[in-house]
Amino acid sequence: MIPLGRKERIAKAATRTASQARETAARERGRSKRSTSSSGVAAHRHCSVCWAPIPLSAEPPVCSDEECESTYEKREASRKRLTIMLYLFPAIAILLALLTAI
Ligand SMILES: [Zn+2]
Repeated sequence: MIPLGRKERIAKAATRTASQARETAARERGRSKRSTSSSGVAAHRHCSVCWAPIPLSAEPPVCSDEECESTYEKREASRKRLTIMLYLFPAIAILLALLTAI
């Protein structure tokens, strides 16, 4: 085996330290990211009406406020109605088309 030249050896060492530094920086970045997520606010969700933080298991996703609950229910009802209409109108249109075709 041919021994490496002095220049080559130095270059190799330099690239090694550079990659090591990059690795350390990446590890450091990852650690800091992890620490913010663990020391920061715990996993939670927000009241869909007033955006107050509520526990993750809250169902329906509203806070304990009665007003928020009724607002959420009203919103849900109108959403359901909209979904029904979204299906009902095309169905009626198809039905009418079929009836006129006969
Ligand atoms: Zn609320």
